Amino acid sequence: MSYFYGPVPSRRLGLSLGVDIVKKKTCSFDCIYCQLGRTTNKTIERQSFIDFKKFRLQLKKIIKKNPSIDYITISGSGEPTLNKDLGKIIKAIKRITKNKYPVCVITNSSLLHLKEVRDDLQLSDLIIPSLDAADAKTFYKIDRPLACVKFKKITEGLISLRKEFKGKIWLEIVLVGGINDTIEQARKFKKLIEIIKPDKVQLNIPIRPSATKIKLPPKEKIYQFKKNIGQDVEIIFNYKGKKQKKLEKAIEFQILNYLKRRPATLKDLKVCFNLGLTTLKKYLKKILNKKIYKKNQYFIFKGNR
Ligand code: SF4
Repeated sequence: MSYFYGPVPSRRLGLSLGVDIVKKKTCSFDCIYCQLGRTTNKTIERQSFIDFKKFRLQLKKIIKKNPSIDYITISGSGEPTLNKDLGKIIKAIKRITKNKYPVCVITNSSLLHLKEVRDDLQLSDLIIPSLDAADAKTFYKIDRPLACVKFKKITEGLISLRKEFKGKIWLEIVLVGGINDTIEQARKFKKLIEIIKPDKVQLNIPIRPSATKIKLPPKEKIYQFKKNIGQDVEIIFNYKGKKQKKLEKAIEFQILNYLKRRPATLKDLKVCFNLGLTTLKKYLKKILNKKIYKKNQYFIFKGNR
């Protein structure tokens, strides 16, 4: 089992190496927009999921192959704060990479009221906690948490995190059409944000398919929402062309770097770069015949001829 995926181009983090530290769909929520399907292990019990020996070995190998990473991002296929070794994991990443890359943790905020969780997060550089609703009723509708997870505790956890955490906090709000995209919600969010004091607020929309049928908010509503929060809010789903180009160049560069060291098949490259076949072929097509050539099933760097 691999604990890592990517590095993959991320809309807000550049080239991000993903770290998956919980079993698939181990989460305290079952969000209606979740791209991973329905939650199969709904829990708030923190457990150990990692074989540290394997974790260290895998990370060392990846870092050797991919020197140009912008962030190491702990998120993956469930809620990462449910891993009770989170602090130890961040420490291990920092030690192995010699603190070269900033570490980001993406969390649904449900366990932030626990001091032990906030302590674990202290070693990270950036936390992206989500808050999808500005009141309890909307929160239950959109995030479908375990009954014991209370909205008030989540906001209290976020306030405590802000007081204790020295790194950056980017609060993420995922907007779902007809549920939390109203002016009333935006105004309530404005009040909460003034208390939580994140460094940034980011609005996102669930563009990937989910198990539950949902509506995307219309564009005008998103801008109206942003205006009503009245803060410095970033809309992150409209991926800027310039940034996209920069990321594509970085991936192209990494593929070439890899091929400079050894010829590789499509399958080798797919595993190494964790890209879909269509995306990978698109990258290879761009450099084929200019910088690389194909012999039998191998892609070979032209300079190595
Ligand atoms: S918190 Fe994240 S992993 Fe959990 S259900 Fe929601 S979107 Fe899915």
